[in-house]
Amino acid sequence: MTTASRIGLLGGTFDPIHLGHLAAARAADEALGFDRLLFIPSNAPPHRPDSPRASGYHRLRMTALAVADAPGWAASDLELARGGASYTFDTLTALREREPASQFFFITGADAFAEIGSWRRYPDLLALAHFVVIARTGTSFDRIRGRLPELASRMVACDASSSSACRTAPFPSIFLINADTPDVSSTDVRRRAAAGISLAGLVPDAVAGYITEHRLYA
Ligand code: ATP
Ligand code: MG
Repeated sequence: MTTASRIGLLGGTFDPIHLGHLAAARAADEALGFDRLLFIPSNAPPHRPDSPRASGYHRLRMTALAVADAPGWAASDLELARGGASYTFDTLTALREREPASQFFFITGADAFAEIGSWRRYPDLLALAHFVVIARTGTSFDRIRGRLPELASRMVACDASSSSACRTAPFPSIFLINADTPDVSSTDVRRRAAAGISLAGLVPDAVAGYITEHRLYA
């Protein structure tokens, strides 16, 4: 008997990708055990007033550099190639059509998930994948439960030690993972790059080199 592939997905602007993104992906992977994990830079994020600073081309290349050494992890151009506004509903629909036998896990930080009520096709999009919410400084799980009481019954607290319970949770669940990810943001990385401050310890070395080489946020 073959079992369905478990595929983690991390969407984001990745302007640029940083160590917080990688730690969030790792925490989800450790708790839930993915066969593959795709990092999907958005083309035009619907919830942002400004366009990304770096082009889609550069954001995808930085993402590919950041995951190059991790087996099973890859950058995906799905949203950039589709163009237009990048709605998670459309992305999950496309992936399910492409791989009907796979199980998808859409990973977000707690700050992003707190806004899920405003995403396109809420709440229908929650039926297309498991959602995996990673703790992030500034947004507590209590706040998420308080803002989204209608989803509380689907939420499953999950970490490396409760892994087996998480792996048998019904579809679709919302996993809450209380990992200690570094308090890094792309906004802060862009600010530092513009000020000529070192990005060491915030982004992978290959990404820092790429930003310098292409003068991305100068
Ligand atoms: P910006 O400052 O430009 O908003 P960001 O650092 O928030 O950038 P995004 O590309 O907006 O990065 O984030 C993509 C996803 O990764 C979101 O779901 C976000 O919540 C999550 N994420 C980003 N940084 C962290 C972190 N340090 N810990 C946990 N999750 C994170
Ligand atoms: Mg953000």
